Amino acid sequence: RPTVGVLALQGDVREHLAMLETCGATSTSVRRPAELERVDGLVIPGGESTTIDKLLRAFDLFEPLRARIAAGMPAFGSCAGMILLADRIVGGTADQQTLGGLDVTVRRNAFGRQVDSFETDLVVAGVPDSADHPVHAVFIRAPWVEEAGPGVQVLAQVEAGPAAGRIVAVRERDVLATSFHPEITGDLRLHRLFVQIVEG
Ligand code: GLN
Repeated sequence: RPTVGVLALQGDVREHLAMLETCGATSTSVRRPAELERVDGLVIPGGESTTIDKLLRAFDLFEPLRARIAAGMPAFGSCAGMILLADRIVGGTADQQTLGGLDVTVRRNAFGRQVDSFETDLVVAGVPDSADHPVHAVFIRAPWVEEAGPGVQVLAQVEAGPAAGRIVAVRERDVLATSFHPEITGDLRLHRLFVQIVEG
């Protein structure tokens, strides 16, 4: 049974913890460096990426977490978590930093002010059966992936509407990221995919 942490500075920590347990992992919240050392992989929930960035530094987690991701620890970021895992951001604040790990450029609040939130169905590569039973994706002031490097696998793109074609799920090595919030629909398939990645 792998031990999978959930970064517990902001966001839907409890939902992620419960879903990871259901998927066969031992889940634990991570708020301090000693807790980070004990996990085999980490979920970074949504929230406000600028706030999480500041809290990471206030909790002395920024550097150890950056280093573990760089050393290959599996990570799964949702929404603000995707922003934190991106090597580059567009639309960040002047002093905003990211942990990095994904060779992508992410655009913050990409879907625009008029469309703060929306929902759509997605086929997600690596998610079994999603062609017949799509993943219902909920976006909340979400980023999208503007550019992905050659080593990045595009797992999902918006299929219709004004954002059609936009990249909203990616994977590079053992780092997974979604623009949407997989913890709020009860669909366990993305968490299961991540637990399998952690199991290696
Ligand atoms: N807009 C937020 C940010 O830029 C992300 C929103 C979310 O995580 N739901 O950090």
